[in-house]
Amino acid sequence: MARTRIILDESEIPTHWYNVAADLPSPPAPPLGPDGQPVTPDKMLAIFPGPILEQEMSAERWIPIPDEVRKIYALWRPSPLYRAERLEAMLGTPAKIFYKYEGVSPAGSHKPNSAVAQAYLNKIAGTQRLVTETGAGQWGSSLALAGQMFGLPVRIFMVKVSYEQKPYRRLMMQTWGGEVVASPTNLTRAGRDILERDPDNPGSLGIAISEAVEEAVTVPGTKYALGSVLNHVILHQTVIGLEAKKQFEKIGLYPDMIFAPCGGGSNFGGAAFPFLADKVAGDKRAEKLRCVAVEPASCPTLTKGVYAYDFGDATGYTPLMKMYTLGHDFMPPGIHAGGLRYHGDSPLVSQLYHEKLIEAIAVPQVATFEAGVMFARAEGIIPAPESCHGIRATIDEALRCKQTGEPKVLFFNLSGHGHFDMSAYESYFAGKLEDFEYPAEAIQASLAHLPKID
Ligand SMILES: *Cc1c(COP(=O)(O)O)cnc(C)c1O
Repeated sequence: MARTRIILDESEIPTHWYNVAADLPSPPAPPLGPDGQPVTPDKMLAIFPGPILEQEMSAERWIPIPDEVRKIYALWRPSPLYRAERLEAMLGTPAKIFYKYEGVSPAGSHKPNSAVAQAYLNKIAGTQRLVTETGAGQWGSSLALAGQMFGLPVRIFMVKVSYEQKPYRRLMMQTWGGEVVASPTNLTRAGRDILERDPDNPGSLGIAISEAVEEAVTVPGTKYALGSVLNHVILHQTVIGLEAKKQFEKIGLYPDMIFAPCGGGSNFGGAAFPFLADKVAGDKRAEKLRCVAVEPASCPTLTKGVYAYDFGDATGYTPLMKMYTLGHDFMPPGIHAGGLRYHGDSPLVSQLYHEKLIEAIAVPQVATFEAGVMFARAEGIIPAPESCHGIRATIDEALRCKQTGEPKVLFFNLSGHGHFDMSAYESYFAGKLEDFEYPAEAIQASLAHLPKID
């Protein structure tokens, strides 16, 4: 019988990240500049430091994790893998359900796995200061923590509505020494332009990215850090799946299906890609493996978007990336899973989805909270609203197993805890949570503005 909590020793923290780019069936589509030509490295060097760009463009399968990064990882890694026996019993399913708990990090999510790596790689490249954006504050707090660990000042453009409505993550950032400003600001041209037209603009992730990128390009010694989407971020997050593989090995099991919430794709890719590598390598155990990205029905990038070149931000400052997108000016409805409200998706996740090596489903908001509460009552941990998406999909599969009698091994990534999202739970308990209609018209309108490339 499988153990309830499978823990690894500090010495078992992976020594290398896994780069799925080495195993893609066809070469990845390069990022393009405004002229439709591949972006030159010197353009990218204005935004990111050399060591990060190297990882971003690498086709090496294994990339060493610097000792300094492993040392910080050891503050909370390896993270535990749990068997959700009480949830299985509650559902009456023959499925075995496992989850990797990334909420044990100081910031409470998987995001520090990349923030720490990015802060370190910037530090050794001579960066003097980092800028970034944050929505609800999960990424901003992770980067503030990481900057503090390596003595790098961090400025965070926080979407104004969240700045006003979510003081706790802002205070976490400030506790770790981060400087937090409410975006749009008058510190950048992008921000000033928007405020001039609309002084009460509540801000958006796309606007905040434009502000941070502009500052990285214009202020010497300052670089930009992004918390998801890009290849190097997915790379850093593979510590999740690499550890999980060792944990499954210890109990002699292998997952039949992997689920994770998907916003920009980093925790999904991080959890799933190391297993997908087995499948690509022809490993018998992975023959029938299915990896499922779970997104909100109100922001259905993979399931309803198009695979095309688009900007990563609202203003069009970033290079064009080939990805599934709902259009860069799509404004997703205000669901509580703020980390999943992004118009695009990781180019790596997008390509693998396009080539049918992974799957995706979309789930409505109320059902995700229903699943999250069920999980909290069975297993104790209160999941982040984003994580509730993966839980919903896992529970639905476990219930299918109950009907068919299949004892499948299901694995999901519990990307973070929900301790700072209790007001979302409050709305759920009060029956005030909405299931937004699939915003077909808004998506159509936004897709009409895709840059013309292909
Ligand atoms: C940011 C976040 C996500 C979504 O981001 P990905 O890059 O898709 O992983 C999911 N869960 C939590 C807890 C987050 O903070």
